[in-house]
Amino acid sequence: MTAPRILVVNGGVACRGSVRTPGEKSISHRAVLFAALAEGTSVIYGLSDGADVAASLAAVEAMGVRVDRAADGGVTLHGGRSLLHQPRTPLDCGNSGTSMRLLAGLVAGFDWETVLIGDASLSARPMDRVAEPLELMGASVEGSGPSCRPPLRVKGGTLHGIDWTTKVASAQVKSAILLAGLSAEGPTIVRERVTTRAHTEEMLVEAGADLTVEVWGEGRIVTIHPSALRPVSPRTVPGDPSASAFFVVAGCVVPGSSVEVVGIYQGPARLGYVSVLQRMGARVTVTPDPDGTATIRASAPEAGAPPLAATKVAAAEIPSLDEIPALAVAAAVAEGTTVFTDVGELRVKEVDRLQAVIEMVTAFGAAAHAEGDTLSITGVGPAALRRTRFDSHGDHRMAMAAAVAAMAVTPGERSLITGFGAVETSYPGFADDLARLTGLEPPAPRALLIAIDGPAGAGKSTVSRAVAAELGLDRLDTGAMYRAVAALALARHIAADDHDAVAALAATAQIVVGPQVVIDGQDVTGVIRSPEVGQAVSVVAANAEVRSHLVRLQRAWAAAKGGGVVEGRDIGAVVFPKAEVKVYLTASPEERARRRHDESAAGVARRDRIDSTRAASPLTRADDAHLLDTTGRTVQDVVEEVLSWL
Ligand code: C5P
Repeated sequence: MTAPRILVVNGGVACRGSVRTPGEKSISHRAVLFAALAEGTSVIYGLSDGADVAASLAAVEAMGVRVDRAADGGVTLHGGRSLLHQPRTPLDCGNSGTSMRLLAGLVAGFDWETVLIGDASLSARPMDRVAEPLELMGASVEGSGPSCRPPLRVKGGTLHGIDWTTKVASAQVKSAILLAGLSAEGPTIVRERVTTRAHTEEMLVEAGADLTVEVWGEGRIVTIHPSALRPVSPRTVPGDPSASAFFVVAGCVVPGSSVEVVGIYQGPARLGYVSVLQRMGARVTVTPDPDGTATIRASAPEAGAPPLAATKVAAAEIPSLDEIPALAVAAAVAEGTTVFTDVGELRVKEVDRLQAVIEMVTAFGAAAHAEGDTLSITGVGPAALRRTRFDSHGDHRMAMAAAVAAMAVTPGERSLITGFGAVETSYPGFADDLARLTGLEPPAPRALLIAIDGPAGAGKSTVSRAVAAELGLDRLDTGAMYRAVAALALARHIAADDHDAVAALAATAQIVVGPQVVIDGQDVTGVIRSPEVGQAVSVVAANAEVRSHLVRLQRAWAAAKGGGVVEGRDIGAVVFPKAEVKVYLTASPEERARRRHDESAAGVARRDRIDSTRAASPLTRADDAHLLDTTGRTVQDVVEEVLSWL
């Protein structure tokens, strides 16, 4: 499943119906790591399908755990402490702080060196909070800078228990220490002043660990003794409450909505966000189900009912702070100023989420600011947010929160969320689920396709490249595909007009068009711009069979990417007649000839003639394409005009 890279959202589209979120992420990570340590076979159902948990799974696979995936969604791990070995390559945790911190604790118990790496955002996050206690236990943990940023080099071995009071409220830090404590000599004690998520303790006890928990003021003391784990199998991971917050807030704030989210984990302090919404006057209920999960129901205020009211939110209510982006949307449509205290930890999430929340709320037309660790959001009242273009900053929760905010804008106004692919981290199917809840009429959120057509030298490549960069989308140069086939034909001494032979080439060739153009393993990036290929390409492109093969590849590309910017001659009219935005670029013949400095004016004119007069999808402007003459205009100016049509 690939999430769309950009989401176009219509304001005021009500959400109605039932949805089940992916498996709870924290439980999914722990289910994977504990199954890796447990001797025997563990079958897990409902495991989160996001990239974060996939990173944990890949890590344990790299340490020798066999992982089988069944058609019914069950994931089987054949684990055991005794069969784990040193991974041959660094363990790539991607964007997942949970994977990195928990794995650091796990590998600290083994007599080998492990390198943990992550993406750019994870590589900027502090790991000293786990490094310090693990080092005290006897491991060596190296990172860079004073906050011990990744890559992390963990050399484990003989550990001994410690008595550790956590400096930041963090379930990840606690879990890393407890994982190391499983194989440390003597008891390992973790004291937390504020209670954080208790999945690790609960699941370790279930798996047979010798672990006790005592209340300690507002927090707890967890003591673990060295223990062997046994499989807990089968295990069904309940639905993710943090993910539920987006639908529940949408249900509360988009007029006419009524949503239920089923199968949700209802452990301590995980549904604190529901109490916040209830305090704001939202219509939300939590109903426990016989299987131990909960169903959350949320409805928008009835016509004439008072709007949501601002409230005060203490961080202790939402210990992980994961639901703050969703609650920020509720605050943005409430009356008055909602104040979130002690939320400074948001600064060191996947991105500076405190700043990202402020930017999001402001972009949608409400007011927000931070002072120290306090975030204040002043709402604008119902249906008064304004449409905007917002980038997720690569953060899955910001992408989903912005989608909800976009639904709460003035009805009929469309917003655009770029960097939406970030939802892959935790919820690849979010847009699909949202689309189902909003129905098809008016249009559901979907991927964005921008088709840019026009003759040679009209500016397609430059403009499509700039538009793609601006929106964080991929770009496909379909001309390069026709050129690649022409280049291959020339290399094989096949005449461009040998219809059947060229069609057979196109049908079987492997074509990759990106920064490099590769056909059948041959890099033809330079060759395709040669005069010989320029001569042959229009003849090759007039071949209807070649076109049908390449059009199929172009559509598959867009489906896999979840949208993009595609340039060519027939993109808006034939390949993607339903593209959200169609642009037909032109320029004066003189300017076009000047731009195609690598090609003679006569050559360009000849190509244009063949392209416009051929029988198979000739160069035409789709009826609904915006005509844009680029003569004498700057790229930025043209790009702004294209973006204005979104
Ligand atoms: O875009 P570019 O000038 O590189 O395209 C080279 C040729 O490929 C065009 O002259 C045209 O013959 C063909 N083409 C096409 N349909 C497309 C893209 C390019 O026929 N979608």
